[in-house]
Amino acid sequence: MKRLVLASNNAGKLRELRDALAPLGIEPVAQGELGIAEAEEPYITFVENALAKARHAAAASGLPALADDSGLCVAALGGAPGVRSARFAGEPRSDARNNTRLLDVLHGVTDRRAYYHAVLVLVRHADDPQPLITEGSWHGEIAVEPRGDGGFGYDPIFWLPDHACTSAQLELATKQALSHRGQALRALLAQLPQRS
Ligand code: IMP
Repeated sequence: MKRLVLASNNAGKLRELRDALAPLGIEPVAQGELGIAEAEEPYITFVENALAKARHAAAASGLPALADDSGLCVAALGGAPGVRSARFAGEPRSDARNNTRLLDVLHGVTDRRAYYHAVLVLVRHADDPQPLITEGSWHGEIAVEPRGDGGFGYDPIFWLPDHACTSAQLELATKQALSHRGQALRALLAQLPQRS
């Protein structure tokens, strides 16, 4: 596998996916660079949305495709926003408005537990009968105010008690070592040699 389409238009995700793939001699190309529009994500599970995105990018490009579907699951909200994390504050998607809305909704709430979840799906072609599927979860809390300017999405308000900082205050390498996406990427890369 030499060329691989990354089925995402999210700059933060693309940075983390490219960083993990860099040592492998794979040439990752973002779907936007090939003029491929975003796939619909109508499903209620991460795995279904990730599979839909990977198939869409593989069908449009004729290349193997890697998709990530991920989100933030907040205990006090029964696991919301979950698969709807990107659009928690509506359209157009905005990380800043999502964070503000989540802080507002959790105002005065003492149970701040939350976790990120990511599912990665790699298909060798659009009709691949054996998609490679891996996942990871990363537990933390929702802070009471934003801190840090690294990462993306909810990172400024994702508090890590063991590190006494938010995920937006971590170096990329540290976030990759700990995060939901980093876990899923390592599991995927470990299985790649048997699949290509
Ligand atoms: P989707 O997978 O494109 O539907 O969107 C995932 C959304 O979940 C992102 O837009 C973020 O809001 C959130 N998310 C997923 N992973 C992370 C992360 O590593 N940091 C911050 N937010 C994340």
